[in-house]
Amino acid sequence: MIIAANWKMNPDLETAGMLASRLAGISFGNVKRVLFAPHPYIIPMSIRLAQSDITLGGQDCHTAESGAHTGDVSALMLRDSGATMVLVGHSERRSDHGEDDALIMAKANAALAHNLDVMICVGETRNDREAGNAESVVLAQLQGSIPKAMDPARLIVAYEPVWAIGTGLVPSSEDIAAMHENISSWLSSAFPNRGDTHIPVLYGGSVKPGNAAEILSLPAVDGALVGGASLDADGFEAICAAA
Ligand code: PGA
Repeated sequence: MIIAANWKMNPDLETAGMLASRLAGISFGNVKRVLFAPHPYIIPMSIRLAQSDITLGGQDCHTAESGAHTGDVSALMLRDSGATMVLVGHSERRSDHGEDDALIMAKANAALAHNLDVMICVGETRNDREAGNAESVVLAQLQGSIPKAMDPARLIVAYEPVWAIGTGLVPSSEDIAAMHENISSWLSSAFPNRGDTHIPVLYGGSVKPGNAAEILSLPAVDGALVGGASLDADGFEAICAAA
């Protein structure tokens, strides 16, 4: 199981340090934990988490290694700052910054070139789901954003229905399980030579202590990507304990 915290553009540095210290202070056996921190916090969090088993990741990276890209951060910079993973294709990047699948694939390739593992997010909007297009939208995002030649051992997929993020709404267990099965079978055909390598598929969207156990028990759900609830140390610990 993988439980990943996506802090988004939160919290202040003092709170971040407290949260990271709490996380670092306990271990959850087979639960691999990941923290996607805001870029300015990568270095201080890497110091806080140095003695822990928590993986540190950035929330985005540029496609280029360096250059005239004011305000952007490269995969090389993330790696140099202590991150070993990066999140790409989050729906907030797709909507706030107009990122499309081709750009997300280019970011993933930039990350891989600098030895970062990559978590790629996909997910349908409410309109897509109501129109019966959830599966085709998600499979098209996978097709368009995952580099086919990549080492599958470096890949994690996060299925996050856009309408479930930060809303308190969660798809039915049947719908989550069905989408995860679809994603897993797409991954099997996209990486036919992956051998024993299992590509984890996480669920994200309003995961809370109260629903984590049920979601994490579903077939083909290998963990969770947690936004809001990851900003509360007790809540995040409870989700890890449920895993
Ligand atoms: P949420 O966010 O848990 O607050 O719904 C999840 C995410 O955006 O990764």
